[in-house]
Amino acid sequence: MDYLSLSISELHSLLVKGEISPLELTKLAIKKAKEDNNNAFEYICEEEAIKQASSLDESKKNNLLWGIPFVLKDNFSTKDIPTTASSDILKGYVPVFSSEVYLRLINQGAILIGKVALDELAMGGSGTNGHLGVTYNPWDKTHTRRIGGSSSGSAAACAAGIVPFAIGSDTGDSARKPASYAGLVGFKPTWGRISRYGLFPFACSLDHVGFFSRNVFDSALVLNALAGHDKKDMTSSSEPVSDYTQFVGKDVKGLKVAVIEEIYDSIKDQDVRKYFELTLKKLEEKGVIINRVHMDKNLCRAIHAAYIVLSNVEATSNIACYDGVKYGPRVNEDDYQKMVFETRTKYLSYLVKKRLIIGGYSLLKENKEEVFIKAQKCRHLVVNVINNILKDNDFIYLPSAPSIAPLIDNSGVDELSDEYLIADNFLSFANFGGQPSINIPIGMKDNMPVGGNITGRLFEEGKVLTLAKAIEDMTGLSNLLPNS
Ligand code: GLN
Repeated sequence: MDYLSLSISELHSLLVKGEISPLELTKLAIKKAKEDNNNAFEYICEEEAIKQASSLDESKKNNLLWGIPFVLKDNFSTKDIPTTASSDILKGYVPVFSSEVYLRLINQGAILIGKVALDELAMGGSGTNGHLGVTYNPWDKTHTRRIGGSSSGSAAACAAGIVPFAIGSDTGDSARKPASYAGLVGFKPTWGRISRYGLFPFACSLDHVGFFSRNVFDSALVLNALAGHDKKDMTSSSEPVSDYTQFVGKDVKGLKVAVIEEIYDSIKDQDVRKYFELTLKKLEEKGVIINRVHMDKNLCRAIHAAYIVLSNVEATSNIACYDGVKYGPRVNEDDYQKMVFETRTKYLSYLVKKRLIIGGYSLLKENKEEVFIKAQKCRHLVVNVINNILKDNDFIYLPSAPSIAPLIDNSGVDELSDEYLIADNFLSFANFGGQPSINIPIGMKDNMPVGGNITGRLFEEGKVLTLAKAIEDMTGLSNLLPNS
């Protein structure tokens, strides 16, 4: 049996029955990680995982994640395990403390198999910009299509059937977009729902923990393990948590779904539209009310620009600590300023430096009003529109992306088109407002997955999972794995 193609709940029952032991499962996952040809891994935790699997507390056996292998995006701090955020500037860095997400999973008996690749420091959406080079999409054996990013290794490891779930982060769309390209459920719960203690900050007001699984129920299980206040993270919420699995499979009759016309109109791919329409039709048959709603087109176009300014402004400050003094390699110079300059010049990639320049430019006294403050106002307007829509509707539902996974070489893309500005980059509206937002597969085109996105009200993760499961049941697209 190919154990690693099973879901968390299936694996759990086999582990409890003793049909396979945590150690055997761990060894299988490590073997598969070593054979990975998608360049997903930064570090395979062979010794650590085997040690952990050999000494699991049997009394915790009933815990659903007990003995279940997983991977962590390499921007989550793991004590004594190298963590680089796929950046040369953190080469050789071994953290002295662990992220809360990692600790919660380990405490429940989940087994960390590896730290996985990302676009450097979580900046990017292509999976091509980590220091190890391109991470590939397991669905595309020719290695010409993107996996997306920045949680590229997390998506690739889950989609390739190495682990049944994977942890990522989502500042603009970094869990949901790769999930869309890889046929996965990719969930970013409400800002504050999951502790970010030990997640390397990119843009704190937008950063969320996100995660990948191959079906909606598993996503609820992972959320159960992670949700809840953490006194180490003052931005984590004290809002009570639920058993999120209780929401999976509930009736959807009477739920209200909004489709934002201006965003939907900017999607040109007829197959993406067809799959999306089909889910709408089936939802209506189940008694879901579909409302076509509107958002000013210029405001839709401005989401991405505002995101770029705001995320890069925050990054400029967050990344200032990578200066050659505290972590990673250094270019030795007698003068401190020169040392910092040369170190950052050498060890940060072009793309990250470009973003830091945008951040710095936006913060300059003479530009601040025109660029940074304007972007903040834009964020405020977008959040108001979204919250207004969510007053009358339980969800906003749209295709997650305008197409299947794009080509690795996307040099032909018109970055001023609505298709790019709106359809390809609207998902960050849920980072602006902090709402829970999920990707689920809604179709297959040319043997590549197409994704749909549901955004719900703050802290209504349960409801989001209810609708996600209804769509999953309609399409039958769960537990997808590419043929190897
Ligand atoms: N694609 C977005 C960016 O490049 C999202 C990144 C993220 O969510 N970490 O910034």
